[in-house]
Amino acid sequence: MKLADLPLKVKVKIPTGREYEQPTGLFINNEFVYPKQKKTFDVISPTNEESITSVYEALEEDVDIAVEAANAAYPRWSTSPPAVRAKVLYKLADLIDENADLLAEIETFDNGKSLMNSKGDVALTAAYFRSCAGWCDKILGNLINTGATHLNYTQRVPLVCGQIIPWNFPILMLSWKLGPVLASGSTTVLKSAESTPLSALYVGKLLVEAGMPKGVVNIISGFGNPAGAAIASHPKLEKVAFTGSTAVGRKIMKAAAESNLKKVTLELGGKSPNIVFNDADIDRTIQNLVMAIFYNSGEVCCAGSRVLIQSGVYDEVLAKFKKAAESIKVGNPFDPETFMGAQASEIQLSKILNYIESGKGQGAKILTGGQRCQGKGFFLQPTIFTDVKDDMKIVKEEIFGPVVSIIKFDTVEEAIALANNTEYGLAAGIHTSNINQAIHVSNKINAGTVWINTYNDFNPMVPFGGFHSSGIGREMGEEVFHEYTQCKAVRIKLSLPGTKL
Ligand code: NAP
Ligand code: MG
Repeated sequence: MKLADLPLKVKVKIPTGREYEQPTGLFINNEFVYPKQKKTFDVISPTNEESITSVYEALEEDVDIAVEAANAAYPRWSTSPPAVRAKVLYKLADLIDENADLLAEIETFDNGKSLMNSKGDVALTAAYFRSCAGWCDKILGNLINTGATHLNYTQRVPLVCGQIIPWNFPILMLSWKLGPVLASGSTTVLKSAESTPLSALYVGKLLVEAGMPKGVVNIISGFGNPAGAAIASHPKLEKVAFTGSTAVGRKIMKAAAESNLKKVTLELGGKSPNIVFNDADIDRTIQNLVMAIFYNSGEVCCAGSRVLIQSGVYDEVLAKFKKAAESIKVGNPFDPETFMGAQASEIQLSKILNYIESGKGQGAKILTGGQRCQGKGFFLQPTIFTDVKDDMKIVKEEIFGPVVSIIKFDTVEEAIALANNTEYGLAAGIHTSNINQAIHVSNKINAGTVWINTYNDFNPMVPFGGFHSSGIGREMGEEVFHEYTQCKAVRIKLSLPGTKL
């Protein structure tokens, strides 16, 4: 961190040759502004380990200013006609589509993920904003009949929110946070992750073009401490939504409890089981296993990081999965053929490598991978462990990288017990051609999402979130609007002719 005279917009050249103007300030009241102390921090590209630019850092006093802006915007936005909010969201979705190539390249440069992955994220971002546009006039209360003497109804009252997002899906997680804010009439201060602030700031520019009134969404770059912590404990925020590690999720909840008991939603880590039964369509399943653990370089909260294979197909699945992992193209993320780009940061890469060492140290065997790729950038081989035991760290803890443990089982009941043997409960995969078996196992599994014969398969209408240590609350679908509003009940005593008191 240093004091600097960084302009509020800088020219950035992406390795594809594209040049664009990157905002660097804090996005408050529809303007990019300097923070009070004008501190900046470097944004490193995991693709070449070089600085892309610096951006301005929000400190506590800047969080206060952003929170004031969100509170000031609330009275008008929260009572605006739904069609006004829908218009902003539809326009924002169109702008995301129009800028899709640029946004995907920014995301790849900043996060390191393959362009193939970034393009998918940007398409899902536009789709989610569009879906939220359709929800604006469907966030309804109830009329409750308690007899002729009273009229009762409920209203969904929007909230002034704080939101903290991670670095693994910067723009997509931003859309999961901002979509329901804009649709419900809530307002927000959103903090991006310190290692990936660029796409969020660019979306700030698009929000202005989309016609969003000032102060409704404020976007700040900064560190977990102090900016994230200031959001979690802020007395003038009514809700905090967080996506990230379970450890920080606990801190957020504590800060919310100790400040003003703001509403909390947490989307946290996982150690999701991916179960292959003897009767699965093996070739299709292999594709799903690959998508489950190697998509986004394994930096996915719901990654299928524990693969449970039934004994009848164990050898075949293992051999085919190994072959598939070895044929994954890892490297230059701007190459359109690359499936796995770089890990998002040096810290993350070394954390994953430490887990690999721990697995080897505890006696697990590497079937393939396990090494950092040569050259610049934080690239890692897709890695498969066999001969694992349930108490090994690589089986119990979230690695958040392209590393998977394989476990063999015989019976359905054994698979269910293994699947549920975790503190987490974010997702699970079931691969079988027997629908009765699929539903039976799904009913028994403790997870917020169960994918059957698919994996990492999202849709804006389908809610997502965790059981147990994987979190509280849901994103997307209809469910999310309960998280971004609070219920007000109104009960009116009537004096109608013919009604008894
Ligand atoms: P993290 O610390 O939980 O970061 C997530 C977000 O929370 C970031 O914006 C971070 O800011 C912020 N933050 C950190 N400390 C905070 C605090 N005390 N109060 C409020 N906000 C705070 O995650 P990480 O350090 O980037 O990654 C660590 C591990 O978390 C990963 O290895 C992975 O296991 C897990 N993770 C899970 C998800 C998920 O989707 N479930 C996503 C990312 C990471 P900074 O950017 O400044 O740290
Ligand atoms: Mg962190």
